[in-house]
Amino acid sequence: MMIYKRSSALFAEAQEVIPGGVNSPVRAFKAVGGDPIFVKEAKGAYLFDEDGNKLIDYINSWGPMILGHAYQPVVDAVIERTKKGTSFGTPTELETQIAKLAVKMVPGIDKIRFVNSGTEACMSAVRLARGFTGRDKIIKFAGCYHGHSDSFLIQAGSGAVTFGSPNSPGVTQGTAKDTLLAEYNNLDQVREIFEANEDEIATVILEPIAGNMGCIPPAEGFLEGLKALCEAHGALLIFDEVMTGFRLAAGGAQELTGVQADIVTFGKVIGGGLPVGAFAARNEIMNHLAPLGPVYQAGTLSGNPLAMAAGLAMLEALDRDREIFKRLEEKTEYLHKGIAQVLIENKITHTINRVGSMISVHFAEEAVTDFASASAGANDTFKKFFHGLLAEGVYIAPSAYETWFITDALTYEDLDATIAAVAKIAPTL
Ligand code: PMP
Repeated sequence: MMIYKRSSALFAEAQEVIPGGVNSPVRAFKAVGGDPIFVKEAKGAYLFDEDGNKLIDYINSWGPMILGHAYQPVVDAVIERTKKGTSFGTPTELETQIAKLAVKMVPGIDKIRFVNSGTEACMSAVRLARGFTGRDKIIKFAGCYHGHSDSFLIQAGSGAVTFGSPNSPGVTQGTAKDTLLAEYNNLDQVREIFEANEDEIATVILEPIAGNMGCIPPAEGFLEGLKALCEAHGALLIFDEVMTGFRLAAGGAQELTGVQADIVTFGKVIGGGLPVGAFAARNEIMNHLAPLGPVYQAGTLSGNPLAMAAGLAMLEALDRDREIFKRLEEKTEYLHKGIAQVLIENKITHTINRVGSMISVHFAEEAVTDFASASAGANDTFKKFFHGLLAEGVYIAPSAYETWFITDALTYEDLDATIAAVAKIAPTL
């Protein structure tokens, strides 16, 4: 049984000077209650907190640490670059190197632009799609999260829904009216929206494998259907691969599903744990971007040398050893089977969704295929599950609307320890 005393004291202190004590809401544990843990350091599959606890980490900085914390080639790359200056505001060769590698790894893209977060990547991708098509409206899906820029905070997933504000105050009616909403996996609804808004829709944006209402795979034919609708109606298809990019395969969800989007956005893994996002497309689209074209987008710290060095070291590692993705999937499947067996033995109603190294446990009876079915899960059971595991030193996302991210640093002993922890707490659920 772990004790989290110093973390609680630090949280109280933080709340005096930081809203809610955190710089990103989901960290505050509000959905599950209790105080967040304050991390002192991390290595491989483990977090070491301020109370001296060692935790097996299934959040992994919400995705970036696919090869584990403090992955040596990334650490070395950042240290070496730091000695040479941390920001120049000029082009560097490093940016071309990582861009070339990303273009090689990801299907169907010619050019990529780097920004500082997934939010920026998605926001810029939509602006580019609007600029390219000359249209205003976008279609997004309930429960998908694309960062916190205004037009996405309409029925958003992740923290936005955890905190009961999927439609945030501060987003103007003017902005909200251009965001049209559909249910994930409901192709007919998207078709109807297209037909009711002929020549007005610039883009359909989605998480090709959703991760912000737990993990939800696209139904058979859903992505292909969206692509066909976009083509038929002159709209661009944006895959938000902030979670899935360089995680589900070297070429992300596009490689995994065989469906090619028009614009792809990245974050998380592409920065190796430093603040990086990116968006990419074929030349015809990317050449619309300033300084080549009229669509403006910029950033003082975009392409920052430390961030690019970390990202390059990470992508090189993933490019070098493509077996990583297979190993990750095998570990995730092992965990899935182990947890499912324990929950079945304990007669606990549940649904586990998994794609590659993304997995989530829902205490729901029916299949979880969209936001409504994700919301039907038993939240009280999830809270007990979360706190039970935390007390046993297993750190999972503090909300049922989040995905767990498996890292290659996890050993089968760690997975067995996690399954044993689930077995220990299952009778209390
Ligand atoms: N898109 C998706 C699919 C995400 O999961 C997230 C963040 N979890 C974002 C966009 C926003 O990225 P960031 O938090 O880096 O702004």
